[in-house]
Formats: sequence, C-alpha cells, structure tokens
Amino acid sequence: QAKKEGKNKYVIFSSQVNIESYKQFMLRNDLHAALENEQFQVYYQPFIKLRTNEIIGAEALIRWKHPKWGMVSPGEFISLAEEIGVIVSLGNWVLREVCRNYRQWLNEGLPAMKISVNYSGIQLFEKDFVENILKTVAEFELDPHFLIVELTESILIHEFKSIKSSIRALQAVGIKVALDDFGTGYSSFAYLHRLKIDFLKIDCSFIRDIPLNNKSTLITKSIITLARDLGIKLVAEGVENAEQLSFLRYLNCYTGQGYFYSRPVPKIDFEQLLAKKICEPNYVSNLSKEQH
Ligand code: C2E
Ligand code: MG
Ligand code: MG
Ligand code: MG
Repeated sequence: QAKKEGKNKYVIFSSQVNIESYKQFMLRNDLHAALENEQFQVYYQPFIKLRTNEIIGAEALIRWKHPKWGMVSPGEFISLAEEIGVIVSLGNWVLREVCRNYRQWLNEGLPAMKISVNYSGIQLFEKDFVENILKTVAEFELDPHFLIVELTESILIHEFKSIKSSIRALQAVGIKVALDDFGTGYSSFAYLHRLKIDFLKIDCSFIRDIPLNNKSTLITKSIITLARDLGIKLVAEGVENAEQLSFLRYLNCYTGQGYFYSRPVPKIDFEQLLAKKICEPNYVSNLSKEQH
C-alpha cells in the first residue's frame, strides 16, 4: 500500500515538473505584485491602410518588463494571469493606459483613430463588463467609438448566449468588435451568422505562406471574399514582406499590420510614427528584433 502511494506521489510530482517549467512557476508567483510594481507597459503596433501606407490606428499589446527574466511576452503570461484571476485587473489597467495615451494624443491635435485592445473570455463574463469600460472611457472624456475589442474565436464556444449579449452591449454604445486569429480556432460560419462582427483579423499563419503556398493563398482569398460579402472589415495580421503586401493589395484587403511596417513599439516610438502619418514598409529596419 505504502509503495503504491509512493509511486502515485512520484507520478504527480514528475508530471507537474514536466508540465510547468521553473520559469512559468516563478512568473505565476510574480504576477500578483507586478501590476503594483509597475512592471507592465503597453506597446502599440500600427494598423495600416495598405493602399496608401497611412496609419489608421493601432493594436495595444501588453509587455511585462520583469526584473529578473527581462521582457516576458504575453504569450507566456496571459494564460497564467487567467488562471490566477489577475487577468481582470490587468485588462482594466491596459484599457486605462490606452485611454490615457489616446486622450493625450487627441489633446496634442492628432487625428481620431481606432485602437484595439485584446480581451480574454474571462473578462467578458465579469459583471459590469461593459459598464466598467464605459466608466474608464468617460473618465478620459473619450467617445467609445475609438475602441475595438479583440476576441478570439475560441471563447465563442463557451456560453455563446452570454458572449452574444456582451458583444451586443458593446456595439450598442459604439464599441467595435474584432474576431482575432481568424481561421485558427473553431471558425464556424454559425458564429458569423449569429453574431454581428465588425472586423475579422486573418491570422498570421495564413499570411505567412502567401503567395508561395497555394492553400494559404486560397484560404486568405476566400476569407477576404467572405468578409466583404458579409460587410465585415478586414485586417491582415503578420505582414512581413513585400510579396505578401502586394498580394494583399491585389485582393483589396484594406488594412494590415505586421513587422514589415512596424513591430509593436513603446508609446514614445509610436508617437514618432504618428507624427509622420505614413508608415513606410521597410524590410531591413523593421524586421530587427523588438527594441526595449
Ligand atoms: P494577437 O492579439 O494575435 O496579437 C498579434 C501578435 O502577433 C502580437 O504578439 C504581435 O507582436 C505579433 N505580430 C505582429 N506582427 C507580426 C509579424 O509580422 N510577424 C509575426 N510573426 N508576428 C507578428 P504578442 O504581442 O506577443 O502578443 C501575443 C498575444 O498575447 C496576442 O496575440 C494576444 O492574444 C495576447 N495579448 C497581448 N496583449 C494582451 C492584453 O493586453 N490582454 C490580453 N487578454 N491578451 C493580450
Ligand atoms: Mg489581437
Ligand atoms: Mg488576441
Ligand atoms: Mg491575432
């Protein structure tokens, strides 16, 4: 009996070690205090009108400057933040930061634009989800029309009814809704049929292989056609080179974002881009690693 228990314990212990790396374990611990310690930063990646290279908005992307691990990407900590329940306060912080920055830009005379913020499903299920957004937006005397809420398809498979009413409530006050990473999750035409979606973001995994890979190219082409026929605006994610750009232009894809135009950059660098209004696609300088 004792031997059996011992064996079980060993199994549990070893699988935990395997599943969870030391780094993740440490990060999870540090997440609680990171907000208080002001270790987060919002970076911006411009949305580009592909035909003219004009900047028409930006996606806000969170960054964690960890004192020990350095720059930690959201891919490494968002799911941890969801697990330990920090995601709601983290998300509120991102929105406040975006509103504060955008208020400043308007005060400086910069034109209105759209800014998108990523939301995880957990945030949508919060009571007063929409009210809290409106409160923050109003605090900075902003019109909610500037805001795009990005959701991934995967959250739609849970509690569809409740998600649907959250989406409706957002749109009722003028906030736009984008389906992020489109084509990677359980993309179902039923969602597009039953929900009013304002933007589809074609996932970078399709963009990556065009125009060389015939399948990716055809899928991209049909997503663009589908969106156009349904009256949904499009954003191509992950535009990295001239070939992809010219193909997307040829298909009349209106908006794109990607390293070919700009990496996600700190506020101060984004302001320099905004001052120029135009973002020249540039392979050499933009593809270099994210600057911190
Ligand atoms: P996402 O929303 O799909 O964001 C786009 C990701 O693609 C970003 O990664 C961006 O840096 C990256 N990207 C942009 N252009 C290119 C390109 O040309 N090539 C390639 N290979 N990648 C490109 P990032 O910033 O590491 O964020 C990863 C994910 O973390 C985001 O994916 C989003 O789902 C999540 N995330 C980021 N910020 C937040 C946040 O404030 N709240 C929540 N809930 N999630 C966030
Ligand atoms: Mg996104
Ligand atoms: Mg996302
Ligand atoms: Mg995406």
